[in-house]
Amino acid sequence: MSSSTASPEPYPREGLPLEEARRQLLASLVPLAGSDMLPLQQALGRVSARPVLAAQTVPGFRASIMDGYALAAASVPQVGHSWPLLGRSAPGAPYPRPLAEGEAIRILTGAPLPEGATRVLPQELVEADGERLSLIREAGPNPWIRAADEEAAAGQVLLGAGVRLGPADLGRLASCGVAELALRPRPRLGLLITGDELVPAGSARGPGQIWESNGTLLVALLERLGVVVVERRLVADQPAALRAALLELAAGCDVVVSTGGVSAGDSDWIRPLLAELGSVAFWKLFLKPGRPFAFGELLGTPFFGLPGNPVAAAITALQLLVPALQRLEGAPVEPLPRLKVRLAADLKRGAGRPELARARLQVGPEGELLALVEGSQASSRIGSLQGADLLLEIPAELGALAAGSELWAQLLRLPIF
Ligand code: AMP
Ligand code: MG
Repeated sequence: MSSSTASPEPYPREGLPLEEARRQLLASLVPLAGSDMLPLQQALGRVSARPVLAAQTVPGFRASIMDGYALAAASVPQVGHSWPLLGRSAPGAPYPRPLAEGEAIRILTGAPLPEGATRVLPQELVEADGERLSLIREAGPNPWIRAADEEAAAGQVLLGAGVRLGPADLGRLASCGVAELALRPRPRLGLLITGDELVPAGSARGPGQIWESNGTLLVALLERLGVVVVERRLVADQPAALRAALLELAAGCDVVVSTGGVSAGDSDWIRPLLAELGSVAFWKLFLKPGRPFAFGELLGTPFFGLPGNPVAAAITALQLLVPALQRLEGAPVEPLPRLKVRLAADLKRGAGRPELARARLQVGPEGELLALVEGSQASSRIGSLQGADLLLEIPAELGALAAGSELWAQLLRLPIF
């Protein structure tokens, strides 16, 4: 399509700054309705739809934190003191009667304390013959008892609505007897890979053809972030075929994402088709890599036109699509953690556009955080993403940078808990 058909640009030629683009698209999105009831094991990475309360107190009984002996003793006992041993409390097999002052039982870690018991003497401090127990080393003030409501009191909120669930959340819910919970629906994403020159990896390349990689890169990235890609299509730069694919994906998915064909070249159909079939909210970013980028809607379905260059596609997906998907899922929008780092070596670049450069994180001898930028930062070179720990935020006005220059960087690491 010739660029003369483009509508007048609502923004300066340089495009929209990333933060402004993110703000605009987040403001236009609302969470998907409904919820799914699912077992805990299927909830990792999903978002809670409602607060979850503890039905009962957990653990629900006072328990010993030590292998030793439980006593009923009003004060800290003195060395030399002895007690009759009345029985035993083991995990899952409590001693059935209350203890009276001056009585003791054998107790194991995790076992319930009988009513009346006031403390546990760790077994290292005592001598016992099965019938009697004597204290032979000084006992400290710690009673070695876990409270009945240590994990949760009945009715306590275990987690709120809109929390993305990690292993610790799931473990705590299990510990409180929760087996299933209501989860927000995940957006179903349709991916449209466009380009006349693309052939799938594994097939032979004709003249000028390249192996298609955006599909693999984006599906892997999105799946790692818990996004469901329900459909993926490869379509040539033909307006009729693209129009049909866009409409079908918009009708069947919660979000449509394309790559390629979103610049202003002769075979770049995405933006005019978006304008024809839906609407363009903004086009073009003030960003390197990632200048060609369109956001809008198709049949009411949010649409993201990512650049064709793979690094630009992956980085704009991370910066703009992922926050949008978080919003659609009703989750808190969680930007990547940012930290200040120093360049490990000089960095050549021309001022002009803000850049997100790929770098490895190194820790210097004094514990200082260093960023090592290796090789060409061309938006076509996927190798620049391999092994990257950081996206270095380089402001537009900065040209060549000397080693030691301090910059903000986004951390490309997944949370654990
Ligand atoms: P475009 O945005 O369509 O002009 O594409 C920009 C560059 O990215 C061109 O060199 C394309 O060949 C390349 N490209 C587009 N789509 C893909 C893809 N799916 N996989 C690999 N490279 C692509
Ligand atoms: Mg193209």
